[in-house]
Amino acid sequence: MPELPEVETVVRAVRPHVVGRRIASARVAWPRTVGELGPAAFARRLRGLEIRSMERRAKWFTLGLPSATRPAQALLGHLRMSGRLEVQPAADPPLPWERAALLFTDGTSLRFVDVRKFGRLEVVDDPAQRLADIGPEPLEPTFTDDAFAACLGGRRGSLKATLLDPRVIAGLGNIYVDEALHRARLHPLRSVATLRAPDRARLRTAIVEVLSAALEAEGSSFDVFYRTPDGRPGSYQERLRVYGREGEACTTCGTPVRRLVVAGRGTHVCPTCQRRPRARSTRPRGAGPRPAAGRGRSSR
Ligand SMILES: [Zn+2]
Repeated sequence: MPELPEVETVVRAVRPHVVGRRIASARVAWPRTVGELGPAAFARRLRGLEIRSMERRAKWFTLGLPSATRPAQALLGHLRMSGRLEVQPAADPPLPWERAALLFTDGTSLRFVDVRKFGRLEVVDDPAQRLADIGPEPLEPTFTDDAFAACLGGRRGSLKATLLDPRVIAGLGNIYVDEALHRARLHPLRSVATLRAPDRARLRTAIVEVLSAALEAEGSSFDVFYRTPDGRPGSYQERLRVYGREGEACTTCGTPVRRLVVAGRGTHVCPTCQRRPRARSTRPRGAGPRPAAGRGRSSR
């Protein structure tokens, strides 16, 4: 699933081809892509509007489409599993798996292609309000140690689950959470509540470093779906330290990388670099074969 570096790569590549273009018409091939609004209303809302900006917020891209009555109006898009944007001549036929398209008055068009159909496009009056519960952007200069401490404040879950929660921090997903935790030498099962200031500072630095490096590499192409809009794969998958490397040597210490499931997600750790927190017993008292055998012996 595309995370911050992949979505930012898409936005940077597509922006010059859409900002300043005016929408002549919009078409929707898969109604669920545009949600409750429906294909007809989607096309009506967008017709005649000029795209004034293209930005990213968390894993969303936003096209600024102000109108006289809706000055903050925007089209928000989420790529989810397999969504992709492509710029094409408007006269070209629909692409395979194309779910929606914006056709511009200058003869070009923006196509939303999505094999697995989980991607979404939403027209909203106020994107800031729609995305209000999303946490801070980790690559902004305002993401300081104090800001990070404030996002984590009061939380008690595992590091993995907490960092995957977009209300805590924007744009992280399974790949970059695993990579950041490895860089910070923190185990994904460790409780946020046990972090001390130096741990937090190391983790914040690791998050910023891994996202910056991945952005520079134009993201990770971990499956066949993610390509930059120019059709190239990202290259960060070649530099991943733990994610997807089960059984391979940790790049830091050589210990084989292990895969476990945390927060319902496949999670990759180096058991040497990332010490597992001391486990509390999860087995109910008196359960299992050993206590039963003990009772058996004592009754004789
Ligand atoms: Zn290691």
